[in-house]
Amino acid sequence: MTPPFAVRMMRPVAALLAPGGNRARLSILIYHRVLPVPDPMLPGDPDAARFRWQMETVSGLFRVLPLAEAAARLQNDTLPPRAACITFDDGYADNHDVALPILQSLGLPATFFVATGFLDGGMMFNDRIIEAIRRLSPGLQDLGFLGLGMREIPVEMEARHALAMEAIRRVKHLPGEERAQRVAALEAQSPAPLPRDLMMTSAQVRALDAAGMEIGGHTHSHPILARLTDDQARAEILQGKETLESMLGHRIRVFAYPNGKPGKDYRREHVPMVRDCGFDAAVSTVWGVSTASRDPFQLARFTPWDITPTPFGLRLLRNLLRTTPDQAR
Ligand SMILES: [Zn+2]
Repeated sequence: MTPPFAVRMMRPVAALLAPGGNRARLSILIYHRVLPVPDPMLPGDPDAARFRWQMETVSGLFRVLPLAEAAARLQNDTLPPRAACITFDDGYADNHDVALPILQSLGLPATFFVATGFLDGGMMFNDRIIEAIRRLSPGLQDLGFLGLGMREIPVEMEARHALAMEAIRRVKHLPGEERAQRVAALEAQSPAPLPRDLMMTSAQVRALDAAGMEIGGHTHSHPILARLTDDQARAEILQGKETLESMLGHRIRVFAYPNGKPGKDYRREHVPMVRDCGFDAAVSTVWGVSTASRDPFQLARFTPWDITPTPFGLRLLRNLLRTTPDQAR
């Protein structure tokens, strides 16, 4: 595959901004879903066609490595120039069905952070809201239990997307039990059952692993660690890790903090906790690029949102200048 001309022109700039060795800068991209076709209820996630040119751009600009290897080489000053990693959070089935064949066709390794509590038929609360609102009958509905009052359910999915985002904002910070009850009340209004195949099966995780992809920990039930006691947080991190290890028969080396904003979603004490649970490196959702001086248990991630290759590539180059502090404390 020959990268487009504009991307070929950017490669020397990437080499200049991200040299190897002790001046290395590691770019780590973050994805969640890769949709088979565009979905107006999920405008933030790329479809297969967009994901393909994004991966072609990344492989034209960078040398893509598995995360555990890249994190270790960043620490011992042996990272090559233009190093990058590709990561996916949560464990969506489309990671296996849609993203994997594209990654394989381009020869790119990637790392998949799987929240084990949703494997084999589960669904995260935000997806329950999106999938229930997608299915609601149009017309007036009482959404008082979500704090939204009486609402007109629009026919257009673009408008339903806005309604779903509003509902997610309303319940996001409620205690787990109360949030689950409110989301269940919304699900009960859906005239059709919600899908059971949104997240990966254990067999799909094993297939990613067998395909040479890296599987990482992402807790069991995807809680906001900052809201848990230390014992609860450790139990969540360990349960996710041990479930994956017994499923795959080898050690799980890398971890992603759920939601991933330092100080907000995880606290300072969770960083040594993740290390003591037996991981080698961890990623947050702080934007930027990581240097050897950055905490290897709080590596930065970034994905451009552009919908054409040249601005997408330029934004990846600009990200190489963003050496944000850990903000970890
Ligand atoms: Zn997540």
